[in-house]
Amino acid sequence: MSNEQYRNTDKRPETAVRRKRRSRREDILLTRLKAVFCMILFAFAVVVCAKAVQNLRAGGKKENEPQMTQMTENAAAKTTTTAPDAELAGKNANSETTPPVSEKEPKQQTEHKTEVIDGITYVDGVMIANKSYPLPESYDPGLLPETQEAFNKMAAAAEKDGIYLFISSGYRSHFEQKVIYDDYVYTDGKKAADTYSSRAGYSEHQTGYAIDVNNPSDSFRGTDEAKWIAEHCSDYGFIVRYPEGKEKITGYEYEPWHLRYLGKKLAKKVEASGLCLEEYLGIDSKYSK
Ligand SMILES: [Zn+2]
Repeated sequence: MSNEQYRNTDKRPETAVRRKRRSRREDILLTRLKAVFCMILFAFAVVVCAKAVQNLRAGGKKENEPQMTQMTENAAAKTTTTAPDAELAGKNANSETTPPVSEKEPKQQTEHKTEVIDGITYVDGVMIANKSYPLPESYDPGLLPETQEAFNKMAAAAEKDGIYLFISSGYRSHFEQKVIYDDYVYTDGKKAADTYSSRAGYSEHQTGYAIDVNNPSDSFRGTDEAKWIAEHCSDYGFIVRYPEGKEKITGYEYEPWHLRYLGKKLAKKVEASGLCLEEYLGIDSKYSK
């Protein structure tokens, strides 16, 4: 190879070497750049992961938060039963399904409206006369026409079944009840008299809605008349007011002859409930002294 040739040809190898060097430098630079890029990418990935973990933790907390507030709300509803917005709390409670709430439901359903008008107590619109709720002496309506008409229909129906019913005691005024009660106290003593007779003002007979049918004594129990009344009286708007087994709640012994007129709709409801009127209306029947 001649020198010139070499020179001529040297130029190419030289540039080739340079190119090689350059390409090597470029390669190194590229690798470094890749490394840096990878590190940045890694750092970015770490940051993203950290944030994701943070979010997950935060998300978990957020899920728990409503439960916590629900619990505190429930606790609040529990303690605000006497507040004026207790009904509202009940409505809120109804939309939830936790056990303390479902326990509250019956309480909400058994809330009753008690009014006292001219000294007479009405619970859910029903006039009350028992040992807790007396009538004023001035209340003197006589046997009310609706009571009489309902009895007439019932007696007519009974007659078709061969059962003869009559009113042995209907309306009793405050004064009449006083005479009767005082006589019982004189004979049997106050404690015994209170189990079967009412003090003046506390008798349901003064409401105008109560009647004693046929024989108002223990011998009436189990008779065909008593059985017919128990089976059919609600069809005419009456209930057996002092049922067997409810003596401690009504305050009276079982009286299959003593009927109270409530109207057909309510009488049917009370009968179907299996409750005595006190239980049905959420009241008691006890003398205060
Ligand atoms: Zn009676």
